[in-house]
Amino acid sequence: MQIQSHPLPSEKMMFQLNLRRRGISDQAVLKAMEDVPRELFVSPADHDYAYRDTALGIDCGQTISQPFVVAYMTEQLQVRPEHRVLEIGTGSGYQAAILSKLSREVVTIERFRTLADRARKVLARLGSANVEVVLGDGLDLPETLGTFDRIMVTAAMEEVPQALLNRLEPGGMLIAPVGPLQSSQMLKRFQRSGEDYPSQELVAVRFVPTLPGVAREL
Ligand code: SAH
Repeated sequence: MQIQSHPLPSEKMMFQLNLRRRGISDQAVLKAMEDVPRELFVSPADHDYAYRDTALGIDCGQTISQPFVVAYMTEQLQVRPEHRVLEIGTGSGYQAAILSKLSREVVTIERFRTLADRARKVLARLGSANVEVVLGDGLDLPETLGTFDRIMVTAAMEEVPQALLNRLEPGGMLIAPVGPLQSSQMLKRFQRSGEDYPSQELVAVRFVPTLPGVAREL
């Protein structure tokens, strides 16, 4: 058993306990969830709710996902220190910060400039030097971004485009909420095996939709 040098505030302790109780067991994922201060990613008005297990509204009508879902998707993606990871849907940047603790490099793409700029600032403040925030359309990825060992989509897709699956390295994995945009989706995990992409259904989830193009509003 590890002895904590300074006691965690009880809210953060409950946060960790809740993740464990709900079945998150990967120690590296739990440590990343402990180390990243979620309060920096929520809007100031929601500071007091930062460690509750709920999604919260952020700018541009988007949401920062529920912590359990962040931890679950991260665990299911099996991210390793040598991986180059793509996230589609930067939002607040919280999920990108978690991924950055577990991998070599994270590229995260967001269609709202306001969100991309804010996430870039918070990530810089945290010293997450291995994350690149790109303003762009995750459905139309620039070729120059290359290929990835892991891809996480954090906005709902009716189907995963083949062009996106093609960006996986051999043996690479992609996780995405797949299904109707206006109701709930199924979290699906795909693994590249040669030119095949067998998939597995994990759990039902509810995400904001993936929309095409860079947003015209800020
Ligand atoms: N991962 C985020 C939450 C994502 S919410 C976090 O940790 O806070 C989903 C995000 O996906 C929104 O910010 C939305 O603007 C973005 N998004 C939707 N469609 C997109 C697209 N085609 N390309 C890039 N980002 C997109």
